[in-house]
This record gives sequence, C-alpha cells and structure tokens, in this order.
Amino acid sequence: MKAAYLVGPRKIDIREFPNPETPVDGVKMQVKACGICGSDLRRWKEGPPPGVEGIVPGHEASGIVVEAGSQVQKFREGDRIAIAPDIHCGKCYYCRRGMYNVCDDLRLIGITPGYPGAFAEYLILTNEILTNGIVHPMPEGLEFTAAALAEPACSVLATHRKLGDSLGATIVTLGAGPIGCLHVLLTKARGARAVVSQRSETRRKMVERFYPDLVINPLKEDVVARVREFTDGLGADVVVCANPVAETQTQAVEMVRRGGRVVLFGGLPKTCPMTTLDSNKIHYGEIEVAGDFSYHPSIHELALTLLKRKVIPAEQLITDTFPLEQVQQGFQQAAQGQGLKIMITM
Ligand SMILES: [Zn+2]
Ligand SMILES: [Zn+2]
Repeated sequence: MKAAYLVGPRKIDIREFPNPETPVDGVKMQVKACGICGSDLRRWKEGPPPGVEGIVPGHEASGIVVEAGSQVQKFREGDRIAIAPDIHCGKCYYCRRGMYNVCDDLRLIGITPGYPGAFAEYLILTNEILTNGIVHPMPEGLEFTAAALAEPACSVLATHRKLGDSLGATIVTLGAGPIGCLHVLLTKARGARAVVSQRSETRRKMVERFYPDLVINPLKEDVVARVREFTDGLGADVVVCANPVAETQTQAVEMVRRGGRVVLFGGLPKTCPMTTLDSNKIHYGEIEVAGDFSYHPSIHELALTLLKRKVIPAEQLITDTFPLEQVQQGFQQAAQGQGLKIMITM
C-alpha cells in the first residue's frame, strides 16, 4: 500500500509499504480522508523525532472497514468510521477517573513512534485502539472529508462545554486558523458574541464566513482597548488563546472581565513554553486561567453529530483537498497559512 512517510524537515515522500495484515482482534480501515493538523505541520517542519528514521503521520481520519478480525464484535466490513488519535492506558490514576485525555501513558496515532498514522491507503485499528482509542461510526449521509473534521472540532467542543451558559456573553478568540474559526462558529451557535483577532489579512477575510461580531487586526489596533470598548468597558467573559503566541496570553488576562475565564488552548513552542500573566489581575479579579487539551472520547461522537446537522459547516472549513500522492503540496499549502483546513483524500 501507499503511505506518506516523513523522512526529514519539510520532506514527506510517498512510499510503498507491505499491505498490513488484519489481526483477529482488530480491523483494517481503508482510509478515505485525513486532515492536516497544526501538530502535523509542526512535525513536518521539524522532521521525525530524534532517533526515528521516519513516521507516517495523520490522525484526523475517516474511512471504511474493509476487513474485521473474527474476534471483533464492534465493527464489521463496510462500516463507515471516523477516528481520533488518543489511546489511553485504562489503568492509571486519571483513566480510573475517566480523565482519559490526561492519561499517564497517552499514545497518539500518527504521532507516537510505533503508531503509524492515516496518511496511508490502509490503517490497522488494533484491539488496543478499538478498546482504548477513539473510533466511532459515521452518521449516515456524512461525507468522509466532513467526518475527518470531527477530530479537530472535538477539542473546541470540549472547551465550550466547560463554559456553561454562553447566551449573551462575549467570547474573544485570539487567532483565526482552523481552530480559531471553529471557536468563532461555536461561539455564535451558543448565542454569544464572537470577537476574533488575527494578524493575517487572508485569514481575517476567511473568518468572516462564520459571522463574527468584531474582527480585530492586532497589527493596527490595540486588541485589549478594542475588546474593552466593544464590551462597554467591562471586558470579555471568556478569552480563548487559540494560537502559539505567549504575548497574546498576557493580553488575554488584560481583556477578560473580573470573574471571567482565560483558556490557554494553543500550546506554546516546546523550546519557550513560559508566559507572563499579571498575577494581581488574576487574584483580585478572580479570573480563571484554564488549560484545555484534547477531550473525552465521547465528544468525538458529538462532533460527528454536529457535522451531520451542519452546526459545524464542514464545507466552509475545508478550503483545499489534495490526493495522497500530493501530500507534500498539501503540507506546503498548510504552511503558507492561506487556507483553513487542508484535507488529504485517498
Ligand atoms: Zn489534530
Ligand atoms: Zn491512563
């Protein structure tokens, strides 16, 4: 079978691999679509992890079960399924409490060495993945590319679930990449006002399709002042930092109201993860600063439902589609930051 193989910084080839065998307790999925994630893009820029010859990336995937092992009860041949990367251990302190996404031994399809990803014609879902991973049937009528979007939508949904009542609130999103756009459209779906700040002009234009109430150009305007002005001096109820820029986290604390919430959504570069937040503002203002990462497996099913119902409009989020053979072009396109979600189809 053909698979994309990341061999060095910005170098991903198509290689021929032996057709994978289906284990008796696993299934073989014929991959139909797989999205390029921000984390895939970072990995593509850096190359495979030290000491690893190469990896097959890809974890935002959907496809068809083409073979199911004799011991598998959950899925059968012909099932249309979507997957997400997390595989939890099921034994640690966190897993025993259902907090699977912060598992001590979390492994990720297409990211952790030894767990090949879905930029490939076929992907084996082992018993471990079927048991402790995230695999859900696709709702009828949902397209494969849309189903692959369920994964990136999940973490955004998990954040919004924690916000409680959003009717009439003002939610600021810093960054309007695919994730920032998902925050904006869910903010609107939940009856709140959406403010978004984004440097790139192309992306400022693109986010308009999700009907934000205010779009700020942080290179020209003072974001904190604009948010204060927009909220009659009060500040935002929630600020979501959906970009990898520490400076915007500092600003988030400045623009949130007392008792509000700042969500650190995007990870910072591994080499400089430190940030500066005004501790007194947080203390006297009773501001909550929360980290959000990944999600409970059940959210993946919710994301598929919302895609099917068009609460999340997949066609507005997917701006480019490349066949597997052109995966390198797909990554180059993603690196330019001109589009939103880039899909690879098989
Ligand atoms: Zn992802
Ligand atoms: Zn665990």
